[in-house]
Amino acid sequence: MKVVLLGPPGAGKGSLAGVLKEKYHLAHISTGDMLREEIKKGTPLGVEIKSLIAKGALVSDELVTKLVEQRFMQDADLKKGYMLDGFPRTVKQAQDLDVLLAKAGAPLDFALNMEADGGLILKRLTGRRVCRKCGALFHVTNKPSLKAGVCDLCGGELYQRTDDNEETIKARMQVYQTSTQPIIDYYAKQRKLKKLDGNLETADLAQALSVMLK
Ligand code: ADP
Ligand code: ZN
Repeated sequence: MKVVLLGPPGAGKGSLAGVLKEKYHLAHISTGDMLREEIKKGTPLGVEIKSLIAKGALVSDELVTKLVEQRFMQDADLKKGYMLDGFPRTVKQAQDLDVLLAKAGAPLDFALNMEADGGLILKRLTGRRVCRKCGALFHVTNKPSLKAGVCDLCGGELYQRTDDNEETIKARMQVYQTSTQPIIDYYAKQRKLKKLDGNLETADLAQALSVMLK
């Protein structure tokens, strides 16, 4: 399965990615994770990326598309299946993605769109905690770890992303509406759009996914 995950921040792309990884063993390509890796390196580029992410603004199309392209060039196994999470985020990225996927011989099967209610999104994102080591997702009330601050899966430290605060979340939602939402139509026109209800909690989402894939 070769798929793009679409939807606003907090709609459940990350949770769905977890399901797709565990049940369908799909390779997870998250540009947000790739950019946070770049920040960790402390390079000048990393410093620049950090300030953009802190504002909830987008990193340049050129940079993220290059990161994704490198990943496809390095990993021939991606031809067998992948999920793109957080990319594309603009119509330009979506167009360039089609070109690079054709070159890599790994064209998309479909794009999966998820939407969720605003209040729910805010609650999910402000309470979200992420494992520093394996990237597993938790939530302070919806899905607390067994031991506070410690990942159930790998024992890594849980942290709160700096952009998961109310002000930055609002900026991210705004950017989503202006820059990212038009992509839905892009995939609809290609007849590649599928939908799942982002309001569902993970177990129900997994169920809805398996019904959809039948
Ligand atoms: P979420 O989907 O939860 O908002 P991500 O981890 O996908 O978060 O992205 C975090 C931030 O990284 C974005 O707000 C943006 O600043 C940057 N980013 C990630 N992917 C892209 C992309 N494809 N294009 C531009 N910026 C991106
Ligand atoms: Zn972990």
